[in-house]
Amino acid sequence: MAKKTNEPKLDFKTDWAYEPAPEDTKHISLKKQYDLFIDGEFVKPNSKKYFATYNPATEEKLADIAEADVKDVDKAVKAAQKAFTKWSKISAKERGKYIYRIARLMQERAREFAVIETMDGGKPIRESRDIDVPLAANHFFYYAGWADKLEYAFPNRNPKPIGVAGQIIPWNFPLLMAAWKIAPALATGNTVVLKPAETTSLTALKLAELIRDSGLPDGVVNILTGAGATGAAIVNHPDINKIAFTGSTDVGKLIQKAIAGTDKKLTLELGGKAANIIFEDAPLDQAVEGIVNGIFFNQGHVCCAGSRLFVQESVADIVIRKLKDRMETLIVGDPLDKNTDIGAINSKEQLLKINKYLKIGKEEGAELYQSSCTIPTKGNFCRPTLFLNASQSHRVVQEEIFGPVLTVQTFRTIEEVIEKANNIPYGLSAGVWTDKGSKIFNLTSKLRAGVVWANTYNKFDPTSPFGGYKESGFGREGGLHGLMPYLKF
Ligand code: NAP
Ligand code: MG
Repeated sequence: MAKKTNEPKLDFKTDWAYEPAPEDTKHISLKKQYDLFIDGEFVKPNSKKYFATYNPATEEKLADIAEADVKDVDKAVKAAQKAFTKWSKISAKERGKYIYRIARLMQERAREFAVIETMDGGKPIRESRDIDVPLAANHFFYYAGWADKLEYAFPNRNPKPIGVAGQIIPWNFPLLMAAWKIAPALATGNTVVLKPAETTSLTALKLAELIRDSGLPDGVVNILTGAGATGAAIVNHPDINKIAFTGSTDVGKLIQKAIAGTDKKLTLELGGKAANIIFEDAPLDQAVEGIVNGIFFNQGHVCCAGSRLFVQESVADIVIRKLKDRMETLIVGDPLDKNTDIGAINSKEQLLKINKYLKIGKEEGAELYQSSCTIPTKGNFCRPTLFLNASQSHRVVQEEIFGPVLTVQTFRTIEEVIEKANNIPYGLSAGVWTDKGSKIFNLTSKLRAGVVWANTYNKFDPTSPFGGYKESGFGREGGLHGLMPYLKF
């Protein structure tokens, strides 16, 4: 008979096996109130203040979340400092085992993570289930593998951890961004104080429960919820050694100024406004799928969204017709329904911002086109939208809207499209659709974008580095490159 233990059941699922139907939320138990995760336990916030988190599709309150202030930040940083003295010294192989265990527990609880992510943030369950959660687990698996191979990754350079990493993440991929931040920090022997975004704290708090259950030593990962002020307190804490920030360019600039003159290391993953370029020799039906995925995935709340479409003039009419037809088939609605293509806009505030840009685009003279689908009367929703005949100088072309809104421009020559694609403050990603390998190589070398996808879009993998140029930030996450910001040599 198998020996009974109190160990969590670990199974090595590599394929995504998923049952039963995820839209069933009955068994998802949320607490009424969530506290701060400091030094291995949940503790009340110093201020005794809590803020509400809502389901953006139903406008129902889901729970109250603790708001961490400067004193809580100090407590978490002290716990992380204390934990660092031990964590940085345990054998690298042991460190790897802890990270593997987090990955496996995440797979076991995948269903719960997916449903909570969708309830709290509004993204379609199909995406949380098939993309966000498996990718987050894969990130831990991948970096677990590096833990005892750092000497091999950086030969003759004697890599050492930095200390306490302050990590601040946005609301569009809450669990995935937490994984992108925590996994490489742990693999390299650092400890963590992480703050999720105000509107989507629940999966980070579930992750805190998972981390506690995994037996990771106390204080190695601390999770502090709160608003911008909590993030600023982490940035400004003198004993934080590294800041990893993902969010808007405006806040990224504030952070860079705040730490100027200190010896804190910094990586910034900021906004984007990617060109998705379709040449006349592209497989057009596939390209249309790539356009749809590029801009409507996660309601367009994607830093690397293909939000500027460039179509070669000779095929513009046919591509736009096919795109409009395809948009008619997209289902906007209940994020928990597995047939839904486009879920809820993450917050009232974000919906207001998107609607402001719809007005601006029309005033600027671009032609607004929206699919004729019905949208729920309650909750935050937006129809899939095009701005046809957009010009390079339009604000809807230059500024990040972060919603299901695509601007459409045409071009004649490769030189023209490179010039237009690059003529923007951002440089995070781009897409190229063509039958010619030479054209792909030509473009990838000339587009100033951290990631360029060819004949595909929004493909993510833990092994490949991700990050931007220009106002999209600096530093890379993912792959071997993603280890470097957490090491000193
Ligand atoms: P945001 O407003 O910049 O917020 C990001 C995080 O920073 C949140 O946790 C936020 O807390 C916190 N924060 C706000 N003010 C702060 C301050 N003064 N000091 C320290 N932290 C502060 O961005 P967002 O609206 O959540 O996310 C959308 C943006 O993120 C978009 O621009 C998108 O392109 C970008 N993004 C980039 C990447 C990438 O990899 N390049 C990936 C995803 C998203 P609150 O939530 O409480 O405000
Ligand atoms: Mg919410």
